[in-house]
Amino acid sequence: MGLDLLDTPVRLTWDLHGPGQPLSDGAMLAIAGRIVDAGVFFVTLEARPLVHPALPEILAELVAGGCQVQVACAGDEEELAALEALPIPRPRVQLDIAAFLPDAIHDAGRLRIVLERLRHIGIDPTLCLIPLKSNLPMIPSLLRLCRELGAGRFKLPNARIGDTFQSCPIADLPRWQDLEAYRAQWAAANVSAADLPELEIHDRFLWEIMTPENDQARSEYGGCQAANSLGHVDASGTVHPCAAWPEVLGSLCGADLERIWLSPARFAVRERIARIPAGCAGCRDYPLCLGGCRGLGESLNQAAGGRDPMCREPRR
Ligand code: SF4
Repeated sequence: MGLDLLDTPVRLTWDLHGPGQPLSDGAMLAIAGRIVDAGVFFVTLEARPLVHPALPEILAELVAGGCQVQVACAGDEEELAALEALPIPRPRVQLDIAAFLPDAIHDAGRLRIVLERLRHIGIDPTLCLIPLKSNLPMIPSLLRLCRELGAGRFKLPNARIGDTFQSCPIADLPRWQDLEAYRAQWAAANVSAADLPELEIHDRFLWEIMTPENDQARSEYGGCQAANSLGHVDASGTVHPCAAWPEVLGSLCGADLERIWLSPARFAVRERIARIPAGCAGCRDYPLCLGGCRGLGESLNQAAGGRDPMCREPRR
């Protein structure tokens, strides 16, 4: 029985590179097989997947098993050459524009060339940027630039934390004080809807600032999906509730994903998510927000009772 039959359709992020001894290509393929066997419907391969030597076999295994696949790409020459060498149909691409900052704000030349090269091989990437203290001020200009370059989709995912080489420096993770400053910046930038590509904003509080008219859509948000419809696999095969929650649920080197998903560790995470964080007690917005990003709250904001670090205080 697959995970989709057990609970809810699951999407994973999977790092193909990371710190420590790399797994053999055979072990990586075995992990891909376990992901497929569990019925995972969508996988985003991260941490320079395009230059992993086993990528073609991993992709073939996932796609043959009915899994939709997206690959992260920072747009360097080695990655682009590997992408061009992949057989058609190629996977979807999520282009991390952090690699183009801050230069792209003033000179979009390199980003334009990479986009043209991707389009030449039939790929229309989603542009992606993890919001950090250091890049928040650039977001309004970046969104306008995306429109100018004809990019249709822009994603602002939650931070990645944990012991991986792509992790965000903790000191650069935004806190509520940074969002307060960004709120003023966003208002001053006067970005019109016509300037915006299709936006996917994972953080509740960034969403409120950037798309205040869409709160109705957010009301359908079902709360933190870590260890429910979301999971993360690091480069050693260890499974975590999501990329923003470094707790360990098990290892795909030693167990099937289904067994890990049925483990007490996974259910314990879901039970914690079901409880109201102490730092959210009495908040009138809890039914809409459900405590925001619980991984960041649990891991980084125990001093504020596990509340999302981007939230200043309960709303009365
Ligand atoms: S206190 Fe903040 S994080 Fe908690 S429910 Fe309210 S708005 Fe959300």
